[in-house]
Amino acid sequence: MAETILVTGGAGYIGSHISKALALSGYVPVVYDNLLSGHRELVRWGEFVHGDICDYTALSLAMRCHNISGVVHCAALAYVGESIANPDAYYHTNVTGPLNVLRAMQACGVSKIVVSSSCAVYGHADGAPITEDTPLQPISPYGFTKFVMERMLDDFDMAYSVRSAALRYFNAAGADADADCGEWHTPETHLVPRIVMTALGRIPELHIFGNDYPTPDGTCIRDYVHVTDIAQAHVNAMRYLSEGKPSCKVNLGTGRGYSIKELVDAAEAMFQKKIPCVIHPRRAGDPAALVADARYARTLLQWMPVCSSLDAILATGMRFTQSFIGHD
Ligand code: UDP
Repeated sequence: MAETILVTGGAGYIGSHISKALALSGYVPVVYDNLLSGHRELVRWGEFVHGDICDYTALSLAMRCHNISGVVHCAALAYVGESIANPDAYYHTNVTGPLNVLRAMQACGVSKIVVSSSCAVYGHADGAPITEDTPLQPISPYGFTKFVMERMLDDFDMAYSVRSAALRYFNAAGADADADCGEWHTPETHLVPRIVMTALGRIPELHIFGNDYPTPDGTCIRDYVHVTDIAQAHVNAMRYLSEGKPSCKVNLGTGRGYSIKELVDAAEAMFQKKIPCVIHPRRAGDPAALVADARYARTLLQWMPVCSSLDAILATGMRFTQSFIGHD
């Protein structure tokens, strides 16, 4: 019989792609989301339960009613800058939230969980590709909440045998190839959708936050991974845990970084449009370069990014943005 998986945050950007990937792989996703930043329109695969991860009663009821056998935990607040201004909300949602999820799992006899972690747990890396053994030195409250969640998983594994896969996302970008789901935040602050919105004339110019970083062109370097690849990694991780394998923490990146200027150049070539850019001061909490050493995911989870070229990211991002009127 097909396994039912609770996807917290399944109405959000990454969670909706994960729900689709799970459904395509024979799982039955059940989306649990408070719709604070998620969208009901993005819940297309499986049932929807409107609820908050900080509401233990509702959460455990959802797990019990749907006979859940595993959890993908994506629900979180995810802006570095906002976490510096409002750490209270971040510790509440990103630490109390996963604690509730783990408690509810125990109450319902669920023992496997795949979670959204982040390369923000590493903090300022020295520019070399980041392996999973790179010391964890988060520099923002957001990164620290993900670090605490990972520690909580270790402790719950040791004490209660809850097995987990913490997937440390680098920069998720792009959208579903069928434009069934995509990046839809209000306001939208991420680089790829901002580039697309500038190309479409929905915003007059792209602000580049800092051109004086110690990188070849002075702009920040990030490892952009297509969201469809990220979603597939959750399916692989769930299968890995189902095989009884031990808990793990794994980078999800491509191993190749691009600067902001390189992204703009690629977008100008692809969309055949000039993208007006204005240099602004650095954004608080931005490391100069974050690039994954992506080899561990390949050996452990048999995962490789297959649609993470810049062209695929920009083309699918553009298609989704165009198909969603009012998405700005
Ligand atoms: N960025 C930028 N202009 C924007 C949005 C982002 O220059 O309008 C920069 C940001 O400072 C960072 C990189 O692009 O160096 C990626 O930012 P994003 O918010 O997409 O992801 P993050 O790395 O913060 O997770």
